[in-house]
Amino acid sequence: MNKKSYSDLVKNQELIADVVDLTYEGLGVVKVADFPIFVADALPGEVIKLSVTRVLNSYAFGRVIDRIKVSADRVTIKHPEMIASGIAPLVNLAYPAQLVFKQKQIQQLFHKAGIDDVEILPTLGMADPTHYRNKTVIPVKFQNGKLVTGFYRRGSHKLVPINDYYLNDPKIDAAVGTVRDVLNDFHITAYDEITRQGLLRYILVRRGYHTGQMMIAIISTKKKLPQERSIIAAITAKIPDLTSLILNYNPKQTNVQLGLDNRILFGEPVIHDTLLGLDFEIAVNSFYQVNPQTTAILYTKAAQLAELKGNELAIDAYSGIGTIGLSIADQVKKVIGVEVVKSAVDDAQKNLLANHIQNAEFIAEDAPKQFAIWAQQGIKPDLVFVDPPRKGLTIDLIRALGMMRPAKLIYISCNPATLARDAVLIKSEGYRIAKPVLPIDQFPQTMHVESITVFQTGSD
Ligand code: SAH
Repeated sequence: MNKKSYSDLVKNQELIADVVDLTYEGLGVVKVADFPIFVADALPGEVIKLSVTRVLNSYAFGRVIDRIKVSADRVTIKHPEMIASGIAPLVNLAYPAQLVFKQKQIQQLFHKAGIDDVEILPTLGMADPTHYRNKTVIPVKFQNGKLVTGFYRRGSHKLVPINDYYLNDPKIDAAVGTVRDVLNDFHITAYDEITRQGLLRYILVRRGYHTGQMMIAIISTKKKLPQERSIIAAITAKIPDLTSLILNYNPKQTNVQLGLDNRILFGEPVIHDTLLGLDFEIAVNSFYQVNPQTTAILYTKAAQLAELKGNELAIDAYSGIGTIGLSIADQVKKVIGVEVVKSAVDDAQKNLLANHIQNAEFIAEDAPKQFAIWAQQGIKPDLVFVDPPRKGLTIDLIRALGMMRPAKLIYISCNPATLARDAVLIKSEGYRIAKPVLPIDQFPQTMHVESITVFQTGSD
């Protein structure tokens, strides 16, 4: 087999080769007689000189030494650390080509899942696909005698220092730097994963796009900061328009960034933002879409594609703080949301009241469990929105959906691989994909792909 004959590739070996493809992670693919070598910052159509960095059984990794032919879609990278860290792996690809890459990715994944009778529309992009993020969680380490913020090098836990994250609202980047410097001045220690010593793990900043309200959370292995009052005074003096400063306690040895125990150091427990004219309260542990500009488009398109009539019972599953449900409440008879994070459901309840919405309710429960309960109770929604995390839906949820049999299912997906997998199961419950799939670029410069798919029963 070809594969075997090339396992004799060795580390540091140099070769000249064509880049033939781009992986879902944004790595260029070189093939030497079918044996793939993955190379960061290499685009399809380029010819590169590479050095092999690691050889595994069925693939290898390499590093670009020289570019002999450059892709017409390559753009000059002003932020090379965006690729090294994997924060923005597509930053070297011209934006129109990024949009096509995302459209094709959905197409390929549906094809792999055996679904070919579906049209994927061109990806809706942003006019300015930079500095769009309203939230960031930045790891902090102690390097060369001081606290450093940045991001881990791809596939490692080595921190690359970064000050301009390119994707964040610039006020967020500035706040991260300010908080880091204040904590450094007060000799706060950084948590070390190996020795399990040290206090500071991450700095979280979230800023309302429309309101400008800013929340900062210091994620700490201790319940209290040394010299806490002075630290609070220093941070609020340097960021005078701060709305909320929180100490989040996370003592666990885990990759989960936030703990559940929050103490307000200054200001409010939550911030507010507006979306599609509605007011939303957002707590530190609650999910809120990170790209407020495209989120407004996403929800508007989802509602349009649902062709709401005004008399529907609609379910908003994986409802977060209630954004989708509340934004369609005035176009349907009733909305019921289900969400597993209790604080997000609390936010949703408050958002309901703050926006004077009377025809919606939110349930704190695991969505598959709640669907099974509804199916058993004989609840018959007309319409279901699902907006699950990357792992997608579960078989249980899809079976319960089949029993409840809503006429329409609007699937908002942030991961086309699980969307395509779930689409096969949804189809086996008697649904068809009724409209072209609409990709929306919620995460420019990254490989993440968001899309809306409309499933319908019957043949109309
Ligand atoms: N629709 C919301 C949230 C989407 S993100 C919005 O657009 O803002 C996905 C949400 O699913 C998160 O709020 C997450 O907490 C929630 N979630 C994750 N697993 C869940 C489960 N098993 N049951 C219900 N909700 C879940």
